Amino acid sequence: MMGPSTLTDGLWIAAGTTAVAALALTVAGRRHPAPRGWPLWQAALWLGSAGIALGAAGIDFGAQAVALPLAQVLLLQWPILALVGLRRFHARIDWPGSERHDWLLLLASAALVALSAAWPADSAVAAIGAPAGALLVHFYAASLLVCAAARPDDRPMQLLGAVIALAACAPMIATLPGIDARSLFQASALATALAAVAMAFIVLTLAFDRSQRHLRASRRRLRALASIDALTQVPNRRHFADLATKAMAHDTPGSAVLVMFDIDHFKQINDRYGHAGGDRALRLVARCLREVLRVNDVPSRHGGDEFALLLRHAGVRDGMRVATRLVQRVQTAAAEAALPHLSLSFGIVQVQPAEALGQALERADLALYEAKRQGRSRAVAAGGGGGGGPQPVFIDSRRLGLRAA
Ligand code: GH3
Ligand code: MG
Repeated sequence: MMGPSTLTDGLWIAAGTTAVAALALTVAGRRHPAPRGWPLWQAALWLGSAGIALGAAGIDFGAQAVALPLAQVLLLQWPILALVGLRRFHARIDWPGSERHDWLLLLASAALVALSAAWPADSAVAAIGAPAGALLVHFYAASLLVCAAARPDDRPMQLLGAVIALAACAPMIATLPGIDARSLFQASALATALAAVAMAFIVLTLAFDRSQRHLRASRRRLRALASIDALTQVPNRRHFADLATKAMAHDTPGSAVLVMFDIDHFKQINDRYGHAGGDRALRLVARCLREVLRVNDVPSRHGGDEFALLLRHAGVRDGMRVATRLVQRVQTAAAEAALPHLSLSFGIVQVQPAEALGQALERADLALYEAKRQGRSRAVAAGGGGGGGPQPVFIDSRRLGLRAA
């Protein structure tokens, strides 16, 4: 059998290790807004450390009859506090039982430990009360954690369940013949200290994972805010330039068609139906646009009531077909939504093999201007730049849907 000082050296080291783990959680909780459940995890580790220190002091000063049961009660709490902390941290998980059950079980186990301390030392209650209380809280918390961790993301929770189950094995030593209360306490304290370090590591991992997820989500939101037009939910002008330039660089040169279109007399819609009516019309056009395009095509709101599209692996005739389908879709949808009649004008160009996006946009804009000039509700196609001259050659012009009002 070991002497008291050898025994308590280990205990003091265990108390110090648990205190360091508790301090790590406390410091981490101060630096960032601590997640729900954090204070309980901190409390679990500080109380665990205090319990081990109390037990060690009790043995050192010959007051173990009073100190050990109290210290054992302090060691009981950590699996339950870890569990309740996780219930609060992962509030959306469908947990078995409730927090109230957890606290009641902790109370019952503490009563069992207190009872075994009050009973005569040679009785069966005194022998099995404390280990039974510890086993109860450990296995209860471990089984709930393992049962609740259903998703792959919940692996740290399963790990914590396993750590708690392993720590539960320490009090089992008490059932071996010839093991005294001090050795039992030492086994429990060392197991608690090791489990406390593991628990601190696991909850820090959980909190880190969550803050990484939040960070990624807010980055995604920011990117969407900077690149998607808030009203119509299609890419804005700048994002369109990025997407279209990338697509053109990836595809065979000259295999894309650029389409610019604009709502005819949109100012009148705003004047008659107010800005909100105009906004509804813009949203409707964008929705129809998304419906008629293929997944690889790139839509955008270029500003005001003007939209630009890049049709990949397409020719001018495909551009004309898209314009026709879009106008039909918009006119049907506007009638269904009790919106005024909407007509659109289009400028369509085949992007030339060595042409930059900006140049193709300029040509499409001129074609659109020509469609307006020819009376609106039209699609005009411009040829390949006419040797770089300012005025492109218009190669096709078609009337679309109903005439502009
Ligand atoms: P045109 O047939 O020549 O295109 O005539 P238009 O009246 O449509 O003239 P234009 O395209 O120049 O008008 C664009 C109008 O769109 C002007 C502006 O008040 C309106 N507008 C721009 N952005 C918004 C918006 O976000 N919501 C609404 N409701 N109106 C907008
Ligand atoms: Mg317009």
